[in-house]
Amino acid sequence: MSLDAAPSSHFIKEIILEDLKTGKYQGRVHTRFPPEPNGYLHIGHAKSICLNFGLAKEFGGLCNLRFDDTNPTKEEVEYVESIKEDVRWLGFSWDDREFYTSNYFKNLFDFAVQLIIKGKAYVCDLTADEVRAYRGTLTEPGKESPYRRRTVEENLDLFSRMRAGEFPEGSRTLRAKIDMAHPNINMRDPIMYRILKASHHRTGERWCIYPSYDYAHGQSDSLEGITHSICTLEFEDHRPLYDWFLDALGIHHPQQIEFARLNLTYTVMSKRKLLKLVQEGYVSGWDDPRMPTISGLRRRGYTPEALRNFCERIGVAKSNSVVDIALLEHCLREDLNRRAQRVMAVLRPLKVVIDNYPAALVEELPAVNNPEDRSRGTRNVPFSKILYIEKDDFREDPPKKFYRLAPGREVRLRYGYFITCVGVIKDEKTGEIRELHCTYDPETRGGDSPDGRKVKATLHWVSAAQAVEAEIRLFDHLFLKPVPEDVEEGDFTQVLNPNSLVTLTGCKIEPGLAKAEPGMLFQFERQGYFSLDPVVSREGRQAFNRSVPLKDSWAKIEKSKKE
Ligand code: ATP
Ligand code: MG
Repeated sequence: MSLDAAPSSHFIKEIILEDLKTGKYQGRVHTRFPPEPNGYLHIGHAKSICLNFGLAKEFGGLCNLRFDDTNPTKEEVEYVESIKEDVRWLGFSWDDREFYTSNYFKNLFDFAVQLIIKGKAYVCDLTADEVRAYRGTLTEPGKESPYRRRTVEENLDLFSRMRAGEFPEGSRTLRAKIDMAHPNINMRDPIMYRILKASHHRTGERWCIYPSYDYAHGQSDSLEGITHSICTLEFEDHRPLYDWFLDALGIHHPQQIEFARLNLTYTVMSKRKLLKLVQEGYVSGWDDPRMPTISGLRRRGYTPEALRNFCERIGVAKSNSVVDIALLEHCLREDLNRRAQRVMAVLRPLKVVIDNYPAALVEELPAVNNPEDRSRGTRNVPFSKILYIEKDDFREDPPKKFYRLAPGREVRLRYGYFITCVGVIKDEKTGEIRELHCTYDPETRGGDSPDGRKVKATLHWVSAAQAVEAEIRLFDHLFLKPVPEDVEEGDFTQVLNPNSLVTLTGCKIEPGLAKAEPGMLFQFERQGYFSLDPVVSREGRQAFNRSVPLKDSWAKIEKSKKE
């Protein structure tokens, strides 16, 4: 059964439908996902992946994976591998179309030579500061570079010598010859090539000139036969330049289309900021379960279905907005509610002795695996004289509206029996409650009372002798503020949530969970959805991450809107 929401329409689909109707690209739909391998992918990238691969799928087209690796100093092989793993895990395939902008360095060089020959590019000797000063402002036109009138021959000679490594870094650039008075600053003779004597992770020392993003991107799209080049809104002002290069070269011309990037409350999304969190040790790594990275969400227990559903639900629009992180959590709950197996786990154990239960007896009592899906049947859980319940589920002096266990009070143990508290044993020195003594009613086996007697609370529990001990991590938002960049002083690290991770040890979980494996989905009754931490479990410890608590603040918001 698929949980994916039925695809809804949006302006990009309308454009594609129109192009299919007019035969603009001979009925082809070919998109690409072009990450720069300078960090791990985050949930914003998931939106772009779902959009690009999703459109290709919906229209019977193709989507390429292209590593936009034009910047030799910041890119690493580790990132390339993680990106591939994340796209695959999300459920998409690029088949054999794994491309790298660096594969096109020679093509891009040849295109640049063509532009020089056409008189549309020139070698400029201004320094970076001078280029900036000559560029002008939004209100004032720029000034032409004194090198703009070099002859084609001179430009060809200098450009080939730039490539040969004859000139020092930063001494010269290749620029497009467009219009220094253009109202769009991106069109004021933008830089196409820089000299950079750096080793590249794929091309090694072969090149010492590197193309700019603006120059490389459109030509790479064109070489791959892309039809719809989908990018985020900040590239809207770059579209005239994208079009200019393709028109000047007279090659296949994809359509650039911009959409709004995803922002989420209580987190940061740019790779630069995420890198800072990793490098400065605010989190344990890119895959820390509190990170908005795909690897972090996966480790936390998110499913690809939940992420795809989220991306469908947020839609595709033309204006930037911030999405409530509660919606993301809601999508996970919706998926897990149907799929996760219910189990019992006691996070903060309090010992309970059932005085009238035979010391040697262990009963196996049937418990429902998933009330949303009865076909998943039942499992047996052991019941015996000594059990654990949650510390929070007992109050010696219960306030009003506390209906759980208290001295003299009867409650139900889920799938077990009714028990009544008859005694409290405390530590003589500290006064801390050590254990409870209770009696059980043998007539209430399975948690039903034959005489119709009512109790106001049902508690989860685990039998002490058979329980497995585990570590459990509870998470909260990584930041205290909905928009962490909104700080008065310092930066977003000032508003990190000091309680975003709480680690509990000595938790008692039902014995069947000894065989839990990463990727298995559980609901710990009354506590939330959990899954085994894949990293820690490799070290041989049972550590569960709470993917999301049960309380659904999004559903509440939705409900109040309807009322
Ligand atoms: P960041 O700002 O996080 O560093 P980026 O845009 O530099 O992101 P790239 O690796 O260049 O990251 O992005 C690959 C693709 O993913 C691009 O097409 C980009 O537009 C898209 N993308 C990146 N961030 C988001 C986001 N928050 N929402 C939607 N799409 C995004
Ligand atoms: Mg980028």
